[in-house]
Amino acid sequence: MNQVKVFDGAGNLKEVISGEKVSKQFWATVTSSNLKASQGWEGETRECKECGAEFWAETKTQVFCKRNVPQGKQCSKIFYARKKAVKKVEKVCANIKCSNAFMGDRNRRYCNNPCRHGTDKKANGR
Ligand SMILES: [Zn+2]
Ligand SMILES: [Zn+2]
Repeated sequence: MNQVKVFDGAGNLKEVISGEKVSKQFWATVTSSNLKASQGWEGETRECKECGAEFWAETKTQVFCKRNVPQGKQCSKIFYARKKAVKKVEKVCANIKCSNAFMGDRNRRYCNNPCRHGTDKKANGR
């Protein structure tokens, strides 16, 4: 290996490294960029996005602690489940014969006990 040509992102020649510099500088560059991409991350202490506990992030993308909890109880699961969950409000069943109070999301109209969505439609013959 006599010399190494270094190009920038646009394909322009940036630098020509020659002689014994090659082995040192070239490999130093290669190694450091590889390290950054893969093993460069040594981890860091972070605050869990869900419970606020400090944990050791093993990957850059880890934002939840990895508590030793049963399946489905992990902070990440809880966090995303809550994000998906619809806010429940106090409702009164749309079936006038029932009028039960219940907790449901905004779109729910029936108490489901026993009235269900579609009860009215059936009654109306539609
Ligand atoms: Zn947590
Ligand atoms: Zn009802």
